[in-house]
Amino acid sequence: MRTAAKIHPPGDWVRDVKGTTYGFDAFLERITAFHGYPAPGLVIGGKMVDLALSAMPSGCLFDAIAETGHCLPDAIQMLTPCTAGNGWLKVMDLGRFALALHDKHSGNGIRVFIHTHKVAAWKQIDSWFFKRKPKAEQDSDALLREIQQAGEKILQMETIRVQPRLMVKDSVGTRGICPQCGESYPLKHGSACRACQGLSPYTTV
Ligand SMILES: [Zn+2]
Repeated sequence: MRTAAKIHPPGDWVRDVKGTTYGFDAFLERITAFHGYPAPGLVIGGKMVDLALSAMPSGCLFDAIAETGHCLPDAIQMLTPCTAGNGWLKVMDLGRFALALHDKHSGNGIRVFIHTHKVAAWKQIDSWFFKRKPKAEQDSDALLREIQQAGEKILQMETIRVQPRLMVKDSVGTRGICPQCGESYPLKHGSACRACQGLSPYTTV
């Protein structure tokens, strides 16, 4: 199944799950407020979410998957109710600049990615996407202008079905007290919490 992309009224850049539309500049402002700066990847990510939303059946209760931790989780969180915190957004470290929205129950959904051949026609985007130039030599304004012009022309959409193993609700299960740090942790992690098994990001100072 391939679903035709929705046509935006002129001047509209991106639409969220509620159908609220934002012009390009308004979306850049929202990105800056949420993300700290107008990251090109997040601008494109907004278009990717918009495209996926336009192809989902209306009223579908969906979850989201980001295939990279860069930019795309924020695009999903800005335009849909799926967040990392509520568990409706999974961030996977696959390193692909792609995202998917899928029906919470059936696992059927839409994946959107940057098409490497399509991107070749857009010099600034191509150079940014493949990191062909050092960041300092990039013309950020020209890049954003090109992203605005290109819109969904650089994107590809496909239908997907999420693997059944990922559809199982990941429950914490029984909790216990870690014998080393004394904090609570899921017993299924082993005889000590994961931090005490060597995965702690800190040392205590
Ligand atoms: Zn511990």
